[in-house]
Formats: sequence, structure tokens, C-alpha cells
Amino acid sequence: MSTHTALPLRIAMTTLGCKVNQYDTATIEDRLKAEGHECVPFAEMADVYIVNSCTVTNQADAESRQLARRAKRQNPSARVIMTGCYAQVNPKAVAKVPEIDYVIGLNRLDDIVRAVKNEVAVERISVSNLRKEGETPRVDTLGALTFSGQTRAFLKIQEGCDLFCTFCIVPMSRGKSRSVPPRVVLEQLDRLAEQGFQEIVLTGIHLGGYGEDLDPAVSLTWLLEAIEERRPVPRIRVSSLDPHEISDELIHLLAQAETLCPHLHIPLQAGEDTTLTRMRRRYDTALARDVLLKLREALPHAALGTDLIVGFPGESDEAFARTFTFLEESPLTYFHVFPYSVRSGTTAAKFADKVPQPVIDARSRAIRKLGEQKKAAFARTFVGQPLPVLFEHTRDKNSGLLKGYGRNYVRVMATGDDTYMNREVAVTVTRTSGETAWGEIERVKSEE
Ligand code: SF4
Repeated sequence: MSTHTALPLRIAMTTLGCKVNQYDTATIEDRLKAEGHECVPFAEMADVYIVNSCTVTNQADAESRQLARRAKRQNPSARVIMTGCYAQVNPKAVAKVPEIDYVIGLNRLDDIVRAVKNEVAVERISVSNLRKEGETPRVDTLGALTFSGQTRAFLKIQEGCDLFCTFCIVPMSRGKSRSVPPRVVLEQLDRLAEQGFQEIVLTGIHLGGYGEDLDPAVSLTWLLEAIEERRPVPRIRVSSLDPHEISDELIHLLAQAETLCPHLHIPLQAGEDTTLTRMRRRYDTALARDVLLKLREALPHAALGTDLIVGFPGESDEAFARTFTFLEESPLTYFHVFPYSVRSGTTAAKFADKVPQPVIDARSRAIRKLGEQKKAAFARTFVGQPLPVLFEHTRDKNSGLLKGYGRNYVRVMATGDDTYMNREVAVTVTRTSGETAWGEIERVKSEE
């Protein structure tokens, strides 16, 4: 019979996966701190360990289990809670791990709080169906205000996805697509601004689907216009958008905007039509090329990034060559490269004609090399130019210099005292190496 544990408790959390998972962790930590508990680093002794798991690959499942085992080894009398996407998608498998005391799915913040206190009412497994017919679950895990050690804050404005790309397990884990009402988004932005954040990253699982489920329905562009008008903080960054969700109105807004950063991450996944069709993506290379060129024309200095799955089943040498050429000719400035790995429970897991691993590795190396060349070339275009840089709270470990990002996501280092931390200042770039730029802070009159 579990006994209710006295306060305060030392809680250690660790997070795998995407920005939305990191946002959920920050929300859970804030709630537990508000309940009087103390949050400590995962490597330290704690009374309760919480693993916010990811399930995007079978490898991510394994890493989530390893973290739970490590926690129990660190303190055998501690309680170990597994939450996040792996707990949501496969609770029975997670519950088979003896080191795990509670398996709590997504959207169950109150259950996590009760399990931390070891209240009798909490089941060992508590997971709700986030894809129930006729029901759209609320976005429950919301309200993070402190992102310990981070200069940028995240704000989750959308959850879930209904697109079911063939390689992706996320719709099964995060549930139906649903949006945080605009009024709540604006409130959360104001509260984060009050915390002193200069930059907020708007994130979601399928951001392009924002507002479709609301009554009345609204679009992401409509929300961004409202945010641009209000300017709660100097910098707003939009995380990921699929190419078919980037309208001319949105491009026009980004080109005029003062708060919205000139940076878009556009997960193309491939640059070749037969592969895109097998992935069940909602666009072809003609549309993607058109959107990228329109973006580059309207935003000459914007960072345009992408995610790429390399070695998807059925990707022939010719198909890969077409993807490579598409990327080479594109105005993209950086790539996140994911060698394909089978994710059980997805449609693609059943696809025949798997690409041999050595071929996947060779193709991934080639794409990564191209990505690095593009990133370095992009950074070089700013030599001699002033860039508005938000310097972080911590310095570069090796050089001791201030470090930060331009609005267009160029990494910048400079000499300066701590008063520049968490401030956006103009930096004239003097040199670059790879993706990193070095520069001099433009001193304003009052600072001379
Ligand atoms: S859009 Fe596709 S890749 Fe993205 S979360 Fe949804 S199903 Fe997964």
C-alpha cells in the first residue's frame, strides 16, 4: 500500500525528443515547484525521477528505458515515473520495466503531481485515449514560465496531428490536432514577457494545423498578425511549418514583420516526388521549390532550414540523386538529417525494399556535408553586416566569449561584459568559420 509522502521532495526530470516535449517538462517542473517541491538535475540524488520520453524511433524507446533504469540505480528507494510519448503509445511495454513505478500518458498533469506525492488514488498505469471518436482533448499541459538555464522560452500553441505521414508515430502518441485558443496564447506570451524573456519560440506538433479545430476556425497567419500587432517581446520565432502551409499572406507578413524572426524550419523530408508520395506528404517538389523561392525573394537574409529522412524504403540511387540536386539548387541554409530507421507501428514499417544500412549511412554523410557547406556559405554572407543578436545568459565554454543567435539563427560570438546577456544588440560580423560568426558589438553613445 503506497504511503502519501511528506513535502518537499527532490524531483529530477529528463526529457527526450522535440520542443513540445521540452515545453511539457518545463510546465511539469513549474507545477511541481508551485506544489513546494525542489527540482534537481537528473544526475543528482532525488526522491522522484521523471523521464519525459520520446517514441519517434525504436531507439528513442530504448533510450527512455535506459534513463529509467539509470534513475533507479542512482537511488533504489526513489520513485520512477515514465511520461511522454513512449508511455502514451506503449504503456504495457513500459510497465514491464521493473524499475518504473508509474506509467503516465500525455495530458495528465494532475496524475503526475499525485504520483509524485505517491497518493493512493493513482493507478500504476494512467493513459487516456487522445484519439477518441467524437472528442477533441484539451491542451492540458500548458503554462510553463521558467525554462531553467534557457534564454529563449518556448510556447506550445498546438498539439497532436491528423496527417499520418507513413513514417511517423506521432499522431498515435500526441493524439488529435488541437489548438490553444488565441486569447490564451496572447495571455501566455504576456506572462512570459513579464518573466523577462526577449525571445519566444512558438511550437506545436503540427503548427500548420493551428486553429482549424477552433470555433470559429482561425489560421496561424491570423494569430501571427495578432502577435505582431501586440509585440509582447522583441523576438518571436515560429518553429516548423510544412511547405503547403506557407501561404503568400504568411510570406508577406514575415517580410514586413518586426517581431517575427526571418527564420523558417520547413521539414521537407525528401526532395523527390515518388519518395514524398510514399511518405504521404501533402506537397510535391514543384510546390516546395515554388515556396522556397518565394521565401528567399521576400526574405533575402532569412534562415531556411529543413528536416530530411535519408534512405526511406524504396529510395533508389536515382531518387536519391534527384533529392540531392533539389537540395543543392534550393535556397535552404541548413539541414537536420535523419537516417531512416524502422519505427514499429507505422505504415512504412511494413514497406518492402528497405535500403541497406551502409547505403543509408553513405547518403546521410553526403547530405550532411552539403548541409554544412550551405550553412557556412549562409554565415559568410553576413561578414561586414550588422546582425541583431540576443546574447545568452551563459558564455561560450571554450573562449569565454558572449554567445547568441541572430534573428536569422546565425550563431554569433563577441567580446563584451555580462550586461549584454539576455539583451539584443547589433553586432558587426568580422569573420566566420563554418556556421559560426564572430563580431564586434556596436557601442551606442551612452555606453562610450
Ligand atoms: S505532419 Fe507528419 S511527420 Fe509531422 S507529426 Fe504529423 S504525421 Fe508526423
